[in-house]
Amino acid sequence: MDFQGRQTRLRSQLDRHRLDSLLVTHLPNIRYLGGFTGSAGALLLTEEETIFFTDGRYTEQARSEVQCAKVVIGKKGALAAAASWMESRRRKMAYRVGIETDRLSAAAVSRLNESLPKHIRLRPAPPLVEQQRMVKDAEEVAKIRAAVLLGSLLFDRLIEVIRPGVPELEVAAELEYAAAKAGAEGMSFPTIIASGERSALPHGRASRQAIPSVGFVVCDFGVILQGYCSDMTRTLYVGRPPAEAKRFYDAVLAAQVAALEAVAAGRREEQVDRAARKLLQKRGLAKYFTHSTGHGVGLEIHEGPRLAAGQKETLRSGMVITAEPGAYIPGKWGVRIEDMVLVTDSGCEVLTPTRKDLIAI
Ligand code: ZN
Ligand code: ZN
Repeated sequence: MDFQGRQTRLRSQLDRHRLDSLLVTHLPNIRYLGGFTGSAGALLLTEEETIFFTDGRYTEQARSEVQCAKVVIGKKGALAAAASWMESRRRKMAYRVGIETDRLSAAAVSRLNESLPKHIRLRPAPPLVEQQRMVKDAEEVAKIRAAVLLGSLLFDRLIEVIRPGVPELEVAAELEYAAAKAGAEGMSFPTIIASGERSALPHGRASRQAIPSVGFVVCDFGVILQGYCSDMTRTLYVGRPPAEAKRFYDAVLAAQVAALEAVAAGRREEQVDRAARKLLQKRGLAKYFTHSTGHGVGLEIHEGPRLAAGQKETLRSGMVITAEPGAYIPGKWGVRIEDMVLVTDSGCEVLTPTRKDLIAI
């Protein structure tokens, strides 16, 4: 991973935002900038150097993982170590330190303030690392591809285990067991297996409910591989789908294809969302599409950009996003179809290879 390049690019942003340094506390951001995968740390990027702070539990891990940063092990935790490091260099330390306010508790900020000399001022920084992370480099894209392929492979297992009478939780467990055996470090989020009427719940986590003998089953899941997440949704039908179910499914599929066709570098986030919504509107289903069309995926399952109404960020080549329109009729049924795609100059490359026609079991 090009940690040096990432840090250099970030450093070049500081001046523009009137900052002398940036204190990074969001763990995925730390991993992105220095490679640390543990769960306690802080990274200070100054104009001259990068220092990573953690505590004694992570001494070995920090030494083996962290690259392109000096490692400091603190006795009282990462933030306290960062504060005392800044204090010890107060003469050389320039005074405007950006902090990730959305990622720090008010208590942590006030503790930091108390332990810092007066002339060092903490300033809320814009989400600079998150913005940088939106566009993936070649190594990241390769890792994401591998995660997406594994997710897609697991879908085959899912089709084998979904049968009437099997609890949703058991279906999810089989999927997650297969994921672990295939080398996944974990699931990117709690697996969604929502069958029958529950398919109308956009975030219907697998429950104790048994798969009914007829109806839709929404399956939304992802794996983490080499730190990168995958995310896909397919909706199956148990039994023989009536014409109304087929029409409903086809409408969502058409909306998903419309979203994919709207993706290209230079387009705005909201344009993709609008394309999907417009199609569902034509089929009289717009009011049942109750969430946004997609989101960025990378080290985190939900990151920028956000494909939703009113979002004006311009898509850039190298972004990895989902396209996942759905329609949900409460008490009846729901359908969602989700792929991951790589934004390119001319459009997009769909990374998820799984078929999208309605599979009946
Ligand atoms: Zn999903
Ligand atoms: Zn998603």
